Amino acid sequence: MKNSEYECAHCNGIFEKEWSDEEAMQESEVIHGSRLPNEDLAIVCDDCFKEMDLHYNFDKMIHSNKIPAKILDKMEEEEKSNG
Ligand SMILES: [Zn+2]
Repeated sequence: MKNSEYECAHCNGIFEKEWSDEEAMQESEVIHGSRLPNEDLAIVCDDCFKEMDLHYNFDKMIHSNKIPAKILDKMEEEEKSNG
């Protein structure tokens, strides 16, 4: 693996880096609120990142009770039919 390449922590694919390490650290600071040691920085490819971002946003919606009423109704219905 070249220095300009990285391995996706999710799908294990090898991709060409489109950013510098410094930029990656800055991004981690924005996302996590603090700088993580380099070795703790899991790098994922764009596709996996987008996928995770979707899941993450959905989790956030659930925890903040900002689920659209339609989905809540459906979830309650499913719970009733299961129980
Ligand atoms: Zn990936």
